[in-house]
Amino acid sequence: MATEPISTSSNAQSTPQKPLAIVPAGLEPIVHLKAAVDPASLAWRQLKDGPWWQAIPAWKDVDEATFLSHIWQEKNAITNVEKLVATVRDLAAPEFIKDVEGGFGAAPMAVRISPYLLALIDWHKPYEDPIRRQFLPVKSQLEPDHPMLTLDSLHEQSDAPVPGLTHRYPDKALFLVLDTCPVYCRFCTRSYAVGLDTDLVEKVSLKATDERWDRAIQYLSERPEIEDVVISGGDTYRLRADQIRAIGDKLLAMPHIRRFRFATKGIAIQPMKILTDAPWLDAITEIVDKGRKIHKEVVIHTHFNHPNEITDITRRACNMLFERGITVRNQSVFQRGVNDSAETMVRLVKKLSWVNVHPYYVYIHDLVKGTEDLRTSVATGIQVEKRVRGSTAGFNTPMFVVDAPGGGGKRDMHSYEHYDTETGISVYTAPSVRKDEFFATFDPISSLSSSAQADWQVPARRTQMVDDALAAAKAKAI
Ligand SMILES: *Cc1c(COP(=O)(O)O)cnc(C)c1O
Ligand code: SF4
Repeated sequence: MATEPISTSSNAQSTPQKPLAIVPAGLEPIVHLKAAVDPASLAWRQLKDGPWWQAIPAWKDVDEATFLSHIWQEKNAITNVEKLVATVRDLAAPEFIKDVEGGFGAAPMAVRISPYLLALIDWHKPYEDPIRRQFLPVKSQLEPDHPMLTLDSLHEQSDAPVPGLTHRYPDKALFLVLDTCPVYCRFCTRSYAVGLDTDLVEKVSLKATDERWDRAIQYLSERPEIEDVVISGGDTYRLRADQIRAIGDKLLAMPHIRRFRFATKGIAIQPMKILTDAPWLDAITEIVDKGRKIHKEVVIHTHFNHPNEITDITRRACNMLFERGITVRNQSVFQRGVNDSAETMVRLVKKLSWVNVHPYYVYIHDLVKGTEDLRTSVATGIQVEKRVRGSTAGFNTPMFVVDAPGGGGKRDMHSYEHYDTETGISVYTAPSVRKDEFFATFDPISSLSSSAQADWQVPARRTQMVDDALAAAKAKAI
């Protein structure tokens, strides 16, 4: 297998090519219909390169080999404010640190951020920075939760016949193999289970135990209609090589299972593990190869949200996966102040495509505790999608979806039966998942007019608005 040496940082691919201006002898110059493209407009091809992490005071002497070590990345993950201060030192203003401290205190999520991500934050503008917004809550930006929010808003637990296995759709299942991740994202839909207990939330336990796995495998084996399994968590970056083989072999051995995906945010937040954790990558590769030989598709699904998360290290990791024939698809969460502009989303999609990652879904932010400041309206999603579609290949164009609260599953954002931008209520149906049911979701309160905001504060008005929206949807749906 030809792999690039990890200590070089050749970046030939990411240099924009100059248009050929030489006209071969005997040919007329071409009359171009399109104006020449400004190379600056192809900026997504410029991948951050060199020892950029050395700008972080604690890591000014960390060389590339050390930074690329997945063991070093794990050891130096930031898990509390003291560690953050000790790492960024005078790069962050004391007022900002105080604000983060307040944010951590109010967060229902455990805190964990990889050195890779921490070093990508622009510490001169931490308030605006899209990576900071996703991982480090600041108290001054928090907004009260939407009154319609419940923990586990997607009802993953009530659709689980055995703990950690959600069977909602007819032919596919979601298998939560463990409950830890290499980072903890503020916006995590699974904050009911993922991460350590925090001051505010006591988590459901989904440990990687043999017994729980056996029960899940037993269930899958008894359901011949299931052809597709999502192996998620937590995060499959956290599985050991022997666990990847154990689970992969068991699924491959079930005749009715035709495809499965290992879900990991890892490639987005710690791409160097692909380059330096050979046992992990070899185990994945082995399962993918075994699957290919018996005509079953095994792929990786990952989770990039902003173009800044893609660097030259990402390119090298993705090249390695590509050389091994491993398909990588991406699911993003649409977040206010992170990727809710057309310009950013187009750049993300192009940059992912450039490193051979297929954009698959963009999720409208679910109702998750402590994240109202990150949520957007469905209307914003619709505006941005319009600009994304057409900007590149259709197979690299993500579908914008709403994961309907209450267990309706993913719905094309545009397919609402009713949407009132005044109250921010949209209503979806899901005939293949829950026939004859209606699922409402809610735009963030701060995106609404001041009179609608006032209405949401009155419990009786709330009920009325939801009832009206459901009635309007029922009148329209066939
Ligand atoms: C997202 C999800 C799946 C996979 O759905 P796709 O649309 O195929 O990506 C399966 N089960 C559950 C419960 C899910 O939330
Ligand atoms: S990596 Fe995934 S499962 Fe883990 S906290 Fe982030 S969004 Fe949640």
